[in-house]
Amino acid sequence: MAQELASIATIGLGANLGDPIGQIERAVEAIDSLPLCRVRAVSGLYANPPIGPQDQPDYINAVAEVEASLVPEALLRALKGLERAAGRSFTRHWGERMLDLDILAFGDREIATAELTVPHPEIAHRHFVLAPWLEIRPDARLPDGTRLAGWLGAVRDHPLRFLRPLQWQHHPDSVRAPVGLDAAAGRSRPTRSDAPGPTPRRPS
Ligand code: ADP
Ligand code: MG
Repeated sequence: MAQELASIATIGLGANLGDPIGQIERAVEAIDSLPLCRVRAVSGLYANPPIGPQDQPDYINAVAEVEASLVPEALLRALKGLERAAGRSFTRHWGERMLDLDILAFGDREIATAELTVPHPEIAHRHFVLAPWLEIRPDARLPDGTRLAGWLGAVRDHPLRFLRPLQWQHHPDSVRAPVGLDAAAGRSRPTRSDAPGPTPRRPS
């Protein structure tokens, strides 16, 4: 897999079948162990009723920031592989799933191809994306400078419940971030959001 300069990819995670919390927590660890990817920050876990068909279980959602040194298309392929490995099969549009992994943003890239739209076009309308993203990055902006916080008011009527911090651990092998990246980021110790099992803190 060709190595690129590192970008911060923001990934939205969702699940509402099987053991949704466990699938999301394991997915964070699986993303962390993907080649050329290292998870840098993870939101808490949020529960919310489905959009789309209503005759399906509530969703669990979270957002993760990943230092990614591969092209966005390769990241999408890898994420689809993790969805399949979690047992995802196609049901119906916006239907129930074992695991959904969406690339919400990829650095300041803007992409519009048949297989990939970045930033993800639904960000502004999804409370379950905006709240966890703003939890880990309160000043989050899209590449065009739009502040995500400005959209929160319009989505607040979609119920969203903070459950608890997401529990995960760096994969032992993922300390193998591409040579020089940690040094380049000036990283000497884990930040709160980088450390597994962050201190329980309910966002306001
Ligand atoms: P949704 O997430 O909207 O419920 P799916 O997960 O079934 O839908 O994805 C459908 C297709 O959306 C995928 O095959 C993928 O190629 C495409 N897609 C386009 N943009 C993105 C993105 N930013 N992140 C993830 N998938 C995307
Ligand atoms: Mg998806």
